[in-house]
Amino acid sequence: MKIISNPRELKNYLKEQKGSVGFVPTMGALHDGHISLIKNARTQNDIVVVSIFVNPTQFLAGEDLEKYPRKDESDKKICQISGVDVLFFPQVEDMYTDDEVRVVAPNVRGYTLEGHSRPGHFNGVLTVVMKLLNIVSPTRAYFGKKDAQQLNLITLMVKQMFMSVEIVAVDTVREKDGLALSSRNVYLTQEQRKEALKISSSLYLASNLIKQGVVDVEEIKTQMRKHLEPLEIVYVEILNRDFEYIKEVEVAKSIVLVEAIVGTTRLLDNLWV
Ligand code: AMP
Repeated sequence: MKIISNPRELKNYLKEQKGSVGFVPTMGALHDGHISLIKNARTQNDIVVVSIFVNPTQFLAGEDLEKYPRKDESDKKICQISGVDVLFFPQVEDMYTDDEVRVVAPNVRGYTLEGHSRPGHFNGVLTVVMKLLNIVSPTRAYFGKKDAQQLNLITLMVKQMFMSVEIVAVDTVREKDGLALSSRNVYLTQEQRKEALKISSSLYLASNLIKQGVVDVEEIKTQMRKHLEPLEIVYVEILNRDFEYIKEVEVAKSIVLVEAIVGTTRLLDNLWV
């Protein structure tokens, strides 16, 4: 496995390679969710590139940028074992200068839900993804459905900016008890981890209600909110797959999303129903 930190060097190296390139951008502290993206990339492409970069521009002031988990050495081993060909490991100064062009998330979709509680977060996400896609020029790029709004915005950006990359959405990987894997789960105490299970079980509750024929969005949201008590709910929402608000669930065309704060940790989850 080649490890490259300089964007130009990576660009030049990849120019010399033949075949399709699958790209998996991450912020490191790799878990089975990331590994699932890598496996998908491995089976569908000749060359697999993974990036590990904790992107400062997507963190708001006062967020966990400084204490975001970093596991550089074990991440390198995981990439090697998973058959990654190139690990892109840039420093902040390799990726950003002081004053530069930024990508701005669209007004509505970029500032609702996660974008409402973290205004500007998606500008940082789209900016770094644009940079990474331009450096790697992959055939396919892999993103988790776990971050559904991010996936939706990246898909929009690629389409609206006429970029030539196929965005592949990968299912959320969960612990056996339902908790969605996240690098931020390491912040949870044992007690908080138990409380956090309410997030995934509220999604299963919604899914069961829908299977029983309940389609009224407000009714499902009310039951979910009750189920989530006493967690601090940031949002409970049911949208169509284009992230538009709906009054009634359309089966196999909707997403149920939850964000809640457990202790001081912000946890996101969703289910495509
Ligand atoms: P992150 O390192 O948290 O920025 O995530 C990098 C990529 O992994 C993103 O596309 C995430 O959506 C995806 N990802 C994170 N958690 C999971 C999970 N539990 N299952 C599948 N993909 C995930």
